[in-house]
Amino acid sequence: MRYALITDDRVEKLYGQAFCTHLSSLDLDVQLFSFPAGELSKTRGTKEKLEDALLSENFSRDSTIIALGGGVVTDLAGFLASTFCRGVELILIPTTLMGMVDAAIGGKNGVNTEHGKNMIGSLYASQKLLICPEFLKTLPESEWFNGGVEMLKAGLVADAEFFHEFSSIPIPEAIDRAIEIKRRIIARDPHDKGLRRVLNLGHTIGHALETLSDYQISHGQAVAAGIVLEAQMSYEMGILKKEALDQIKQRFPPVTLSFDFKSIFDVIRRDKKGEDGCPRFVLLQDIGVPLFAEGAYCTEVPYEVLQKVLNDAALCSS
Ligand code: NAD
Repeated sequence: MRYALITDDRVEKLYGQAFCTHLSSLDLDVQLFSFPAGELSKTRGTKEKLEDALLSENFSRDSTIIALGGGVVTDLAGFLASTFCRGVELILIPTTLMGMVDAAIGGKNGVNTEHGKNMIGSLYASQKLLICPEFLKTLPESEWFNGGVEMLKAGLVADAEFFHEFSSIPIPEAIDRAIEIKRRIIARDPHDKGLRRVLNLGHTIGHALETLSDYQISHGQAVAAGIVLEAQMSYEMGILKKEALDQIKQRFPPVTLSFDFKSIFDVIRRDKKGEDGCPRFVLLQDIGVPLFAEGAYCTEVPYEVLQKVLNDAALCSS
């Protein structure tokens, strides 16, 4: 068995080289491949370069891919594993909070295109997932924020208690609980046909902000803004009470949109959850209770509501 350890150049220096040396000392045949850190690397181009590098080193269908890194690494290497020689074994070792509680859980992977985030990818389960909170000791503060946003999102769509108690729960326990929430949701919708959509709370707008900023806005910042704005839409449509909206707003930074309504609308109408160019959103009935309407967890929001919420947020920023 040969192992291809895929990581980014930042994690390579922090942990990748030492890990590779350790595995070799155990007589494992392992080779390290890395690419520049950051969302801009999550492309078909990077995947192709890695595939060519693996092929020229004679990796084959009985090889195993080990993805060591944040969500960018696990998404990219997971997608690569699903297509390399029509699918090879995959071991995920997330090293960011975001990776541990979200990106490495549930088998979704993918790459971005100029048409939007994660537009090309697959559903491919890893054979092993190793969660080791020790990696977090080198994580910058901004990355803690990014992971924290996804944990709060998990509470918002499925576990009000977790949302309310979040800041007082020790990190290892909070990681376990966030993973458990996501796994529970996936177990009830393994083929991503219904309930699992709730995990996209905040992501329709969030992905648009990431795309428009050319990934200068981090995934966590974008999703945090998306959660607040999508909760605001729920309120404007009479679905969510003001008290719950205020509690949600208190947990996230104030939204400061620097894109106009039309630019955002042009991106969100291409979102994967949309139908016939009409964007659909995960709306909230209460904290911990997503709206289920007309047989779906994604709901069309009237154009006027969308325009009002996005325009109000843009005005706040000026
Ligand atoms: P990331 O992978 O870009 O990592 C953020 C930064 O932290 C990078 O510079 C990385 O090199 C660095 N880093 C990683 N581990 C570190 C450590 N232990 N110490 C210090 N620095 C470290 O970003 P991310 O936030 O982990 O993941 C975001 C990506 O995850 C997005 O592309 C998003 O679409 C994807 N995602 C996927 C899913 C899914 O279900 N597949 C879910 C959520 C997010």
